[in-house]
Amino acid sequence: MRLHPAGPDTGIVFKRVDLIGGGTSIKATWANIADSRMCTVLADANGISVATVEHLMSAFCGLEIDNAVVELNGPEVPAMDGSAAPFAFLIECAGVAELDTPRRAMRILKQHSHIQGSKMVALGPWPDGLRVDFHIDFRAQAIGRQSCSFTVSRDTFKTEISRARTFGLLSDVTALREAGLARGGSLSNAIVVDGDRILNEEGLRHDNEFVRHKALDAVGDLYLTGHPIIGHFIGRCSSHADTARLMRQIYADRSCWEMVDMWQESSHASWLDQGTPLAFVDTVRGKTRRAATVR
Ligand SMILES: [Zn+2]
Repeated sequence: MRLHPAGPDTGIVFKRVDLIGGGTSIKATWANIADSRMCTVLADANGISVATVEHLMSAFCGLEIDNAVVELNGPEVPAMDGSAAPFAFLIECAGVAELDTPRRAMRILKQHSHIQGSKMVALGPWPDGLRVDFHIDFRAQAIGRQSCSFTVSRDTFKTEISRARTFGLLSDVTALREAGLARGGSLSNAIVVDGDRILNEEGLRHDNEFVRHKALDAVGDLYLTGHPIIGHFIGRCSSHADTARLMRQIYADRSCWEMVDMWQESSHASWLDQGTPLAFVDTVRGKTRRAATVR
C-alpha cells in the first residue's frame, strides 16, 4: 500500500495498481460499499474491489485527512497489527499538507436509528465534532460488557482509539480457517479470545480494548460519508452492516443533514450568531478550517 497526496475535492480514492491498466479507482464512499459482513468492502461498477478499508479510513478521519489516493497492489488493505495505529504513525511521519479549500463537514440535524433485536445504531445532532458512544455485550467472559465514549479529535483518536486491535473468538477463527479464509490472520494482527482467556501473550492494550476497536471501526465506516461528521453516533452490539444501513437511511432523508464549512474554533461561529458587525465577517471567514492531504 502507498499513500499519495491528492488535490481538493478528490476525497479518499483507492487504486488497484495490480490490475491490467492499473487505473481502476474506487472512491471511498458509502455508495460503493459492496459487502460489510466481515469487514467493509468497496467495489466499483465492474466488481473490482478493495477489502478491509475501515481501519485506514478511521486513521484518515482521526488525523483529519480529507483527500488522498491509496494505491494497493492487491485486493485488501494490509492488516498491520489489527489496529489503526500503524496507519496513523505513517501518515504523521509523512506529514499533513493543508489545501487551499475549506474543510467541509456533514452536520447531522435529526436523529435516525436502526434497531434489530438487541442491536442498535443511531446518529443524531451534536454541538461540535463527532461523538461516539459504543456498548458491547459478548458471551465470552474475556470480553463481556464494555462501553466507551469519545469526542473524536486528533489527540483522542491517537491516544484512546487508534491502538485498539480487531478481535475474534477462537471458535470463529477455526471455522474461518476450515472455510479457507483468514489465512493471513494470526495473533500478530488480532486479539484472539477463548472463553475467559486471551490467547495473545502480550495481553491487552486497554482494559476495554474490544469496545474501543468497535468505536474505531465505526469512525472509519462513518468516514465513508466522504466528510467529517458533526453528530452523535451510538452503537450497541452493532456491526459494519448496521452502520452501512444507517448511512443509507440518513442519505435517503435529505432533511437529516446539511453541509457546512468547518471553523478553526467553534466560538467563531457563535460570534456570528451574536450579531458580529458585517466588517468582521471576512475576518471570521478567514478562519475556516482548511482541507488536508498527506504529503
Ligand atoms: Zn475492525
